[in-house]
Amino acid sequence: MAAELHARLIDAVARTVTEHAGLLTRLDQAIGDGDHGINLKRGFDAVREARDRIAGEPAGKALHSAGMVLVMTVGGASGPLYGSLLMAMGKAAPENELAPQSLARMVDAGVAAVMQRGKSGPGEKTMLQVLVPVAAALRDGIAAGLPPPALTAALRRAADAGLAASRDLRATKGRASFLGERSIGHLDPGAQSSCLIVHAVCDVVEGRA
Ligand code: ADP
Ligand code: MG
Repeated sequence: MAAELHARLIDAVARTVTEHAGLLTRLDQAIGDGDHGINLKRGFDAVREARDRIAGEPAGKALHSAGMVLVMTVGGASGPLYGSLLMAMGKAAPENELAPQSLARMVDAGVAAVMQRGKSGPGEKTMLQVLVPVAAALRDGIAAGLPPPALTAALRRAADAGLAASRDLRATKGRASFLGERSIGHLDPGAQSSCLIVHAVCDVVEGRA
């Protein structure tokens, strides 16, 4: 059961990254070096190739393994950052069955790891524009006892709003920071990929993928 869910998650995330690699690369051409789609496609293709091994592992170990694959295969900044996210989520996972509260704690641990690795926080026009509000929406939604459809709807809204808000920010981290004021007016590529990944995970939870 868990293995089947893990496989669906891997497939859904790898599929959305592949389908949107062109978009991610175009966004990165505007304020970076134009490789974000290529980087993530390479990374998630490698995770998909290792799917049969990873999916069969317990949730914590599977997340950690997927993160390791990203760190090892993605050259750009985003590989170690997404790798840290997944590895820290995996380390924070309980040994036994995943309760909703543990899921919120895992995502919080993952986001904290991205901040530590990137020496960054919200407001700097990075993937954290999406990851931080999504983690908060998960925490709040679970605390309020939202049922899965309302919870995934809240996560989708938080991701979309975070992405949209990245447009008007000036980048202070990563390659886009070299552009200074000229980074304003463009969506952040990493915020876009995080938003796509959140929607793909929600699709799986809702039984759409
Ligand atoms: P690179 O910048 O090395 O070419 P990518 O193009 O794959 O790597 O990824 C760029 C994305 O990584 C940015 O759009 C941003 O969201 C994210 N990013 C870059 N630096 C940081 C950082 N210090 N903290 C958080 N996210 C970052
Ligand atoms: Mg780049």
